[in-house]
Amino acid sequence: MDRLRAGYGVRVKADPTAQAALLELQSTDAILSQLQHRRNTLPELARITELEAQIKDVDGTRIELDTQVSDLSRAQKKADAEVEQVRTRRTRDEERLNSGAVKNPKDLESLQRELVALERRISTLEDEELEVMEKLEDAQTGLASVQGDLDSLKAELAEQVSARDAAIEVIDQQASDAQAERGSIADGIPADLITLYDKLRGQYGTGAAALRARRCEGCRLELNGADLRELAAAPEDDVLRCPECSRILVRTPESGL
Ligand SMILES: [Zn+2]
Repeated sequence: MDRLRAGYGVRVKADPTAQAALLELQSTDAILSQLQHRRNTLPELARITELEAQIKDVDGTRIELDTQVSDLSRAQKKADAEVEQVRTRRTRDEERLNSGAVKNPKDLESLQRELVALERRISTLEDEELEVMEKLEDAQTGLASVQGDLDSLKAELAEQVSARDAAIEVIDQQASDAQAERGSIADGIPADLITLYDKLRGQYGTGAAALRARRCEGCRLELNGADLRELAAAPEDDVLRCPECSRILVRTPESGL
């Protein structure tokens, strides 16, 4: 019969009202566990983790493109300056040529050759400049597009964070109500019974179960005739344990004893 008795070698006694209150305590604890579970598995949490990873990724691309844009802008300025320098020299040579100051045919020929060479050089530099400008434009377009992606990801993140916070606020309010209810239920239960209940709850997830229709509602098993007879014979203030799952077994009017 000892395996049907509660306690740590010590028999725990509690009047049937206190034992019935244990079932209410069990329901409230189940609600608290569900709320905790819901709080930990909010869909927003998974989405937030996903978004944070995406943002980190896209931001990496943004930094790369941003560096490209700076490098290409510098390259473009340098190319501009080079073209400008050669153009200045060409203008100077053209002025010399047009001024009529150079009369020696050999010098004239040399000046004209130089002008042709400068023209070619300008053309090459302009091609290079154009190429840099095209790359710069591509990088700027890419940067703007990535920045747009980043902005929408960040906007969605902000929405998810506020949805998460709102959901948590509701859950926490429900949990605090349930906690208050638990407190007032626990007030009607002797301390040694609560201690035993909490210990069992730590071990099995639930600490107490009702006996209904000869079945323990903790483990769902139907008890055998011998155990049922012992349970029926036990004084009503004996705190009993399920012989199958060890939870506190609370007898009810529907126990079928
Ligand atoms: Zn059981």
